[in-house]
Amino acid sequence: SVLVIGSLNFDLVVHAERIPLAGETVRGSGYDSLLGGKGANQAIAAARLGAQVRMAGRVGSDSYGGALLDGLDEAAVDVAGVQVSDGPSGLAVITHSSDGQNAIVVQPGANGLVTAADIRALEFAEVGVVLLQLEIPMDAVVAAAQEAHKAGLAVILDPAPVAALPEELLRAVTWLTPNETEAAQLVAGSMEPQQTAERLLAIGCRNVALKLGERGAFLMGADCEPTLVPAFAVKAVDTTAAGDCFNGAFAVRLLAGDSPQAAARYANAAAAISVTRLGAQVSMPSRDEVEALSGN
Ligand code: ADP
Repeated sequence: SVLVIGSLNFDLVVHAERIPLAGETVRGSGYDSLLGGKGANQAIAAARLGAQVRMAGRVGSDSYGGALLDGLDEAAVDVAGVQVSDGPSGLAVITHSSDGQNAIVVQPGANGLVTAADIRALEFAEVGVVLLQLEIPMDAVVAAAQEAHKAGLAVILDPAPVAALPEELLRAVTWLTPNETEAAQLVAGSMEPQQTAERLLAIGCRNVALKLGERGAFLMGADCEPTLVPAFAVKAVDTTAAGDCFNGAFAVRLLAGDSPQAAARYANAAAAISVTRLGAQVSMPSRDEVEALSGN
């Protein structure tokens, strides 16, 4: 199965003509309440594609925590590894203006309380691939990568939101999957994909999958010759969580035994479908939809 260790956020999106200035009140025209958090997004992406998925992390004791657990449960994600902490859940309050701008406050809440001890209490038997991001404390991410690596599992780390990556983390990572902005920050400069990948490999991870937006993905590392895997041409409407969709799908296909290139092609197809739709978790495609686009 796929084990996702990471964040769960409740996203409250309020629509307004424009984003208010400090001290100002503007009238909104409606709101959406959505399940989010990179961890939960990746779990839902993988589950939609038919994989058995477990989620580990923390939600708060407020009503948002219950809504987050219910949402994952409805998507057939096993939430036995999600603990409930006293206090608030992860909550993002997003003001969305009619000209497409966002102003966002993210309050990590229970996500910030995930510990290395939580991770060591998890059962890794039956897991094939572990998906990680950086929306829980770094020591918990490091513990997760190390436990999974020790158990011989593939570890896919999405370095988002970007942060300095400790060497002991990189050594336990099978695939590092930054987008272009994150990659540029990690190598302190913007360069050609192969050069970026070489720099990232030099700092210690086994393989790199650079997510290149409408260009697709560039793979390179110990398990894969340098390869540009082209994107599928689609009309992009909303790229929110495209990267999360890519990671969920990439994990599902690696678990199924695909080569990295084949898994990335499938992940490009899944992410391409997700960008044609509004929203994060609601935009994740089903296996049938991805097969229709990718031909496998
Ligand atoms: P993130 O969403 O993390 O910023 P990207 O923008 O690189 O990352 O998008 C992730 C993946 O989504 C890409 O590798 C690609 O497969 C797919 N994708 C993103 N934008 C497009 C697009 N305009 N057309 C087709 N596929 C896209």
